[in-house]
Amino acid sequence: MAGEPQADCLFCKIVAGEVPATVVRETETAVAFRDINPQAPTHVLVIPRAHYPDAATLAAAEPEMAAELLLLAGEIAADEKVDGTGYRVVFNTGAGAGQTVFHAHAHLLGGRGLEWPPG
Ligand code: IMP
Repeated sequence: MAGEPQADCLFCKIVAGEVPATVVRETETAVAFRDINPQAPTHVLVIPRAHYPDAATLAAAEPEMAAELLLLAGEIAADEKVDGTGYRVVFNTGAGAGQTVFHAHAHLLGGRGLEWPPG
């Protein structure tokens, strides 16, 4: 069923506490934790507890949850003090765009200069 935990999903396992993560923020419906392979001084993943394979399917099924990820990303950027210099929120969608974990997640990147366009 849509949103149900998937046994083979790494981020569902992090949500369940079965895989350790450095959690920086938790709500009833979302978890934020540090990326294991950080691409910037601040690199936090903000994910829904519910399983959706990508941001578009999440937004279609639970638009308020998609909005919560953006809200949390902004709050964490302020906590990490990267909001003043600027930060980026990225949803890689599809393998061709670099998505490797098929559980919707926002990357929050900040703390260094970020070029445009991204690679
Ligand atoms: P994607 O490539 O947009 O799907 O992002 C997946 C992210 O998850 C990558 O930036 C990985 O470094 C990160 N990642 C993979 N495994 C773990 C983990 O166990 N803990 C935290 N981050 C992870």
